Amino acid sequence: MKQYEVVVIGAGPGGYEAALELGKAGVKTLLVDRSKEHIGGTCLNEGCIPAKNYLESASFVSKASYFKACGVAVEIGGLDMDRLQARTTSLKNEIRSGVVWMLEQSGVASLFGTARFLDAKTIEVAGEKIGFDKCIIATGSQVREVPVLPLDGTHIISSREVFKLERLPASIAIVGAGPIGCEFATFFSAFDVEVTLIGRSAQLLPNEDEDVSKALTRAFKKRSINVMTSTAVQKADVNEDGVGLLIEGETQESIRCELVLCATGRTPYTGGLHLKNAGVEQNEKGFIEVNASLQTLQKHIYAIGDCIATPAFAHTAYAEARIAVHNIISGEKIANIHITPSTIFTLPAMASCGLKEKEAKEAGRAVEIKKAFFKVNTKAKILGDDSGFAKMIVCAESGVILGASIIGAEATEIIHELVLAIEQKLTEGELKRMIHAHPTVSEIVSYL
Ligand SMILES: Cc1cc2nc3c(=O)[nH]c(=O)nc-3n(C[C@H](O)[C@H](O)[C@H](O)COP(=O)(O)OP(=O)(O)OC[C@H]3O[C@@H](n4cnc5c(N)ncnc54)[C@H](O)[C@@H]3O)c2cc1C
Repeated sequence: MKQYEVVVIGAGPGGYEAALELGKAGVKTLLVDRSKEHIGGTCLNEGCIPAKNYLESASFVSKASYFKACGVAVEIGGLDMDRLQARTTSLKNEIRSGVVWMLEQSGVASLFGTARFLDAKTIEVAGEKIGFDKCIIATGSQVREVPVLPLDGTHIISSREVFKLERLPASIAIVGAGPIGCEFATFFSAFDVEVTLIGRSAQLLPNEDEDVSKALTRAFKKRSINVMTSTAVQKADVNEDGVGLLIEGETQESIRCELVLCATGRTPYTGGLHLKNAGVEQNEKGFIEVNASLQTLQKHIYAIGDCIATPAFAHTAYAEARIAVHNIISGEKIANIHITPSTIFTLPAMASCGLKEKEAKEAGRAVEIKKAFFKVNTKAKILGDDSGFAKMIVCAESGVILGASIIGAEATEIIHELVLAIEQKLTEGELKRMIHAHPTVSEIVSYL
């Protein structure tokens, strides 16, 4: 039986980052995934990378009218889905090759097949038994299916199948108004697809700032997206020309559309792992239980990324991978105390970090809210979209920055400055004394 110091299960962002760090540190490491094509996980194959590549085309189209006004002779003649798919596939292949190359350089062994635990020190992959001293589980998440919307891959699809669509539908109902639902609403609406966005909560992006959500709702309505909040789909009738949805909110409403995209979230994936054989516990929602140092009930087995109950982002998985590896190598027990940015690539984009205004008020904290609008930001105007604002939550007593939310141009880039400020416990005054180059969208921070 082959023996490794560390076995990493799952080659998504969490798993491959952990394996790379271990390999670089000279630890004898095996990385397992279901197949070579799965390297990169959800993020590369059916998540961040294809979604952002699709959204970049949407962003280009949205900017076209402004740049036409600037004299650029550009005509947008629809979208060739074959070419977008082909470009996305080649991008994914290029990134995957880079990851494979880095893994090889760092001396990590890889094996393909579904890993299952035989006991707390052994796994089996494709009929082969493998022993380990330590293990990192990074098996990610899967699409959450809802009984009222049975996925059939043709009329009712999930985010997995969007990237296989051969042509744009005339109309689409997107069920779920979280980050994934809102990003796809942005994409389809940019290409004149009739979009209905159906959310259960009272606001789009229920976990984000209320004012940001209201601004996004306004922007979506301007793009002719039919936004339905505080509503739930009761019934779906599929026939040859599309899907009829019965939607219940304050009143009942029926709509028809060519395609339904179910974007009701994701659930942790641990299928086929046989966690019980290893004595690893899961909570009632299926997340693997870990302590602050990312150890499961079996202290030599760690879990990271989407399969544990921390924010489901690729950057969370990367950060947790580095912490788990540090703890394995050093024997220390450091916890993830970092501020996690939340980034959503809608048009306009939004990003947040730290405390939200509502959370501060609910906790009875004395805070000051600082707000600045992109209307006064010259670079946003030059970029052709000066909508939106930045908002900062500051401790009323000390002036220390506690949180920030931004909606508008390059929000997903600007947020990092606020992440650093919060991590370093900077005061509002200290942050604003920093010189921001002109003209940049980041200058919005100095107006706060
Ligand atoms: C449409 C969409 C857009 C997204 N956009 C963003 C974004 O813009 N930014 C962002 O930060 N995040 C985004 N995400 C979320 C991001 O993709 C995930 O948070 C991230 O991929 C989680 O990484 P992970 O390593 O935990 O798991 P995953 O990426 O899910 O990887 C898990 C891997 O484990 C393998 N595996 C599972 N079980 C086994 C087993 N038993 N044996 C062997 N291998 C196994 C799987 O094949 C897979 O390769 C998006 C997700 C979606 C769906």
